[in-house]
Amino acid sequence: MKNDSRTKPGPHLELIKTMSPPDGLPPGLFAEAVRQAPVAISITDEKANISYVNKAFTEITGYSPAESLGQNESMLSDKNTPRPVYHEMWGNLQQRVAWRGRLLNRHRNGHAYLAELTVAPILDAEGNTTHYLGMHRDITEVYQLQQQAVDQKRLIETMVNSMPMATLLLDENGDIVLDNLAYKKLDSDLGLREPSRMFLDILQEEMGAEWERLKNEGLGFRNQEVRYERGGRHEPRWFACSGTWFKQGNDHVDAFFKEDVHTYLLLMLDDITQQKKHEAEIRSLFGLVTGLITRQQL
Ligand code: FAD
Repeated sequence: MKNDSRTKPGPHLELIKTMSPPDGLPPGLFAEAVRQAPVAISITDEKANISYVNKAFTEITGYSPAESLGQNESMLSDKNTPRPVYHEMWGNLQQRVAWRGRLLNRHRNGHAYLAELTVAPILDAEGNTTHYLGMHRDITEVYQLQQQAVDQKRLIETMVNSMPMATLLLDENGDIVLDNLAYKKLDSDLGLREPSRMFLDILQEEMGAEWERLKNEGLGFRNQEVRYERGGRHEPRWFACSGTWFKQGNDHVDAFFKEDVHTYLLLMLDDITQQKKHEAEIRSLFGLVTGLITRQQL
């Protein structure tokens, strides 16, 4: 109990303790609530000298009340937080406005952690700042996960963009979630506003019931040929289409407490028009040669 803030309460804990509780609440409950709150809480004077810390403050920073009281909050600074961040913080506080932001703090044992901090002025009856209230959480893990997700998204986008064939990710309504540069080029080449709709319609019609079966079973198809006639002076275009369905959870908050899975289709459109032309040329050449041979044999 030596390092517990209860054994050595700062004057501000006494202040909280003596506050008259709202009707129906037992005395001392406020102080206990602050002491036990699962967020690092500190109370300072106007110069940011610490006069109270709660249990979570000690857990998150590593500093006991004995080591914190009387020290400036700057003891938590990793010294890598850019100065403008502090300027903004103090700028707000001087105008008696609370500030919320992220700082790089250093734990007593030496490791750096990212703190999401809210600092609020405590005002007296005349509206003057008498103290500051600081509340912070260690968000290092959350930040790392967010960064990993951002990096992975960037990696996937780079990979998809560097693929030579038109590639797109479609949701259940056929709306595009992700597409690559080759698909964007196809967009203008084919003179259609949204070529994916045309491909989906043709593939669905040609594959019939098989389309639904593969979708329901989370399977895929390969090299389904689609011919597109633009008309006019434009030659027909051929595409070998491959697709894979997969399911993914919904990241919307509404789905937090229920399982809400969505089906996506990864569709790849390989332009095989040149290949088809060569095949046609070879076929007509073959026809010509067989015709000649037959005529010679007659
Ligand atoms: P400082 O000497 O503090 O100077 C940095 C800038 O802030 C300068 O521009 C200076 O003019 C201005 N400034 C400093 N003190 C005051 C003041 N009293 N009034 C007006 N302007 C001032 N910092 C962290 O790094 N981590 C924390 O978790 C953290 N928690 C805080 C909690 C509370 C309740 C408060 C009030 C402040 C907190 N701070 C925290 C800020 C901390 O007090 C320091 O300002 C900061 O750490 C920079 O310290 P420094 O010694 O490098 O620079």
